Amino acid sequence: MPELPDVEGFRRVAARAAGGRVRRVEVLDAGVLNGVTADRFRRGVRGRVLGTPRRHGKWLAVPLRTDGRRHRADEPVVAFHFGMTGGLQWCAGGEPRHRFDRVVLATDRGELRFRDMRKLQGIRLLSGDDELDALFAELGPDAAGVARPELGELLHGSRAAVKSRLMDQTVVAGLGNLTVDETLWRARVHPSARSDELSDAAVGGVHQAMRTVLRQSSRAGYVPGRPSWLTGHRDDTRAACPRCGTRLRRTRVAGRTSVWCPNCQQR
Ligand SMILES: [Zn+2]
Repeated sequence: MPELPDVEGFRRVAARAAGGRVRRVEVLDAGVLNGVTADRFRRGVRGRVLGTPRRHGKWLAVPLRTDGRRHRADEPVVAFHFGMTGGLQWCAGGEPRHRFDRVVLATDRGELRFRDMRKLQGIRLLSGDDELDALFAELGPDAAGVARPELGELLHGSRAAVKSRLMDQTVVAGLGNLTVDETLWRARVHPSARSDELSDAAVGGVHQAMRTVLRQSSRAGYVPGRPSWLTGHRDDTRAACPRCGTRLRRTRVAGRTSVWCPNCQQR
């Protein structure tokens, strides 16, 4: 499931398309459009130039412009959310279509393709920056940029389990199951620990671990299953902690399977 590092990878994909004018819009399956018909989407995007993409949490926004060198606030913006199986591909060499390609923006230089097996209505066409700001205002600060004091306030303001709190996009945007488990394991914090009971040192540990995990994963464009990472072992049959060798545990927290080490992450 795409998390912040994956979307950061998609941002780099979209950046390759930036500056290209959309000559043709192909809506191969309108099931990925949200709040806009295929017709209106085509008319809104065709002929416009793709601007510099911007990510917030798991959202990616591509501002459009008609003439001039810059996107104006009253020009449309395409917003992508990748749901469970979505992704962006840049195809400049006439590569054959994938059967899950749903929307294709064809420019002179190549095609930006939105691929999604599940079709979870991930594409919106916003009328301008006001609508984009409103969309992003529903989210917490981006996890890659949140400062330690702010994270402390966000965590200390709730009795919820720290894992649930970090997964809540309205609290902090961009984290998902893998990045949160990896972060809490590194910080030696139990996923069910109460957010308001975390010590300042624990918050500092979570912040530092989160920044490291996000920086290294974003470089890869996904959360890498390295041998020294929890992520590298979570799917092993007899999964052991790469730090202490203890058998890893699995528990449901916030509706998702948490993987954690009972030795390193004590309550
Ligand atoms: Zn351990």
